[in-house]
Amino acid sequence: MPGVQLTWLGHSSFRVDTPGGKRLYLDPWLSNPSFPEGEPEPERVDVIAITHGHGDHVGEALDLGKRFSPKLVAIYELASWLEAQGFPNASELGMNKGGTVEAEGLRFSMTQALHSAGFLGEGPPIYLGDAAGYVIEFENGTKVYFSGDTAAFTDMQIIGKHLEPDVAVLPIGDHFTMGPRQAAVALELLGVQRCVPCHYGTFPLLKGTPDELREHAPGVEVLSPAPGETIDV
Ligand SMILES: [Zn+2]
Repeated sequence: MPGVQLTWLGHSSFRVDTPGGKRLYLDPWLSNPSFPEGEPEPERVDVIAITHGHGDHVGEALDLGKRFSPKLVAIYELASWLEAQGFPNASELGMNKGGTVEAEGLRFSMTQALHSAGFLGEGPPIYLGDAAGYVIEFENGTKVYFSGDTAAFTDMQIIGKHLEPDVAVLPIGDHFTMGPRQAAVALELLGVQRCVPCHYGTFPLLKGTPDELREHAPGVEVLSPAPGETIDV
């Protein structure tokens, strides 16, 4: 069985080609400023997972949902809102923290995140549930923690102990999330030795870098693919 093929699409967006041949998009903001030029138009989408209701994470999920009718993994309020906008059956797996759902053979456990959420468009803000993260268990048993936008929090110890992720995908840009120094604390709390940083470099405000993370977390293997690059985690 091949491994989990993770392609960074810039910001917090990832395309994952799973060991079982499924295609998953996480936080699909495909119009982000770091989106790789060579990335082909999605030709299939089996599952979309979204961490929270901010525009830089919901991204083009609605458009992809209408075109490909994938399974959606999201917190209940966000899932229901997307269904009301025309994403077919989006609320089917609508979930909350502590829960685990299965979609196309992948297991998603929803975790805590210290962040805000909600849609700020025209008119009053729309409540789209809380910000969250996931530990995803793939068909080959590999477990990847996508923390979503967050600060470090001590309950990461529970995530590490109870859900046992092999790799952590963490934001390091600072300003809206933790920066590299705090991400190193997060890795210590999780007890995870491999990290894929994200949510940095998209715009000047997000100044944390993978090298700073390496400095603060000397025992950790920091995998930092360029946008468009695929790594086997
Ligand atoms: Zn964000």
